[in-house]
Amino acid sequence: MDSDQFRTAAHAAIDDIIGYFDNIPNQRVLPTIEPGYLRPQIPSSPPQDPESWASIQEDIDSKIKPGLTQWQSPNFMAFFPATVTYPSILGEMYSAAFNAPAFNWLCSPACTELETVIMDWMAQALGLPECFLSTSENKGGGVIQMSASDAVATVMIAARERWVHGQAKSEGLKEGSAEYEDRVMDLRPRLVALSSSQAHSSTAKAALLAGTRYRSIAVSLDNDMSLTGAELRGMLEKLDEDKLTPYFITLCFGSTNSCAVDRFNEIIAVLKEKPHWQRIWVHIDAAYAGAALIADEWQYIAKDFAEGVDSFNLNMHKWLLVNFDASLLYVRNRHDLTDFLDITPAYLRNPFSESGQVIDYRNWSIPLGRRFRALKIWFVMRSYGLTGLKEFVRKGITLGNTFADLIRSRGDLFEIVTKPAFGLTVFRVRAGSNTNGALVNGSGEGALVQPDEKADAVTKEVYETINARGEIFITSTVMAGIYAIRVVSANERAEEKFICRAFEVLVQTAEEVLRK
Ligand code: PLP
Repeated sequence: MDSDQFRTAAHAAIDDIIGYFDNIPNQRVLPTIEPGYLRPQIPSSPPQDPESWASIQEDIDSKIKPGLTQWQSPNFMAFFPATVTYPSILGEMYSAAFNAPAFNWLCSPACTELETVIMDWMAQALGLPECFLSTSENKGGGVIQMSASDAVATVMIAARERWVHGQAKSEGLKEGSAEYEDRVMDLRPRLVALSSSQAHSSTAKAALLAGTRYRSIAVSLDNDMSLTGAELRGMLEKLDEDKLTPYFITLCFGSTNSCAVDRFNEIIAVLKEKPHWQRIWVHIDAAYAGAALIADEWQYIAKDFAEGVDSFNLNMHKWLLVNFDASLLYVRNRHDLTDFLDITPAYLRNPFSESGQVIDYRNWSIPLGRRFRALKIWFVMRSYGLTGLKEFVRKGITLGNTFADLIRSRGDLFEIVTKPAFGLTVFRVRAGSNTNGALVNGSGEGALVQPDEKADAVTKEVYETINARGEIFITSTVMAGIYAIRVVSANERAEEKFICRAFEVLVQTAEEVLRK
């Protein structure tokens, strides 16, 4: 493809993309194809001869679009949103054009330097404590990772190394000696990573990757599924008894099931109770809900991270208008990463890196090569301004509150399981027999909701019927033994009329299933 052909093709692609976005509200949110639909439509072997862009683009319409789940549809109310905007797409285009796998500063100084500036912008925008800024005295700073899963795996590996090396050194062993190496290896099998049972599975997976044990701490509906200080203390004391060594904990700022927020203050106070608990790396997973910090009224939460928190992670690609991938990871002390993740063969050496004056982000993450992701964040922040970003997040929260109120208005049909938060409502369908919540407060929220097999079965049927019909797309979950439906409407095209229609669909389907 030469530059003239590229110009023509790019214009056609952009027109097509704009048409795609404009038409999304008219599209069915879930595709109607069956598994394996694509293979028979695509030649079984690669083309021998070049093809024109026109024929390639034609296949987007006929073969790809029919197999897309419409994440940008206002009827997409499943999982968490995955937002995308035009400025973000422009950022991707430039990033592809510059195509610099910027592992070292020298690989493309602009990639590294913009990332550092943008991460500081975002830290300020979120009201994060000063210690997470790259300019902080404690050498904090941020790095853009691909996903929250990469972020937690990276910090967990660093935490493991920080713990075992710290221990070997504290025992007076000489770094580099055989005894030191043996000790570092011998310590690993007793290490345990922790989180509440509500943390995303990426923490358990990270423990697998880090080669350490993992324990999840049970939480309850009485506390709205948040991890409390007492629950953590119980687990830590048990680990002490079992001679196991906790070295890492993920705390939820917006759990996947219900947007639960762990009790940061209490937990940090418990970790101070014993010297060896103080060595535990504390990671905040704010993958989705952390976006709320952009709005001033939520920033009080971030004040809890000023002390005792080692890392904080937020996915802009969920709720902050930047497309996948844009996962912001902040650390209090960059040396916690760079001391353990820096492997420097001769071919990576250069005077700038050796000078210590520049950041080499390869030492802040697992992969060597990395994409120029700061561009799209920069474009989005400038195109929306903080005013636009705040407005967007507030809209999602308001829509969530409206939806929760609608659900409450039909206390005869539904009961809310956990306190609605950050645009997410988690509820189940009443099966007739279970009306205890309604009798007490008309909504049956939180601890009032009890496991009930009949309600589970009805809720599951309502959920499956709705998704099979495909007008809206929602997700279900199981929490504290309760089968529940989750609805979140926080993508760019979300609007009250769609939320109201989703409520109608839920009412009609619940009534239909209950009539049966
Ligand atoms: N943490 C939370 C709270 C999530 O909800 C998710 C995914 O939805 C993740 C982590 C994992 O995100 P990623 O796909 O960026 O790894």
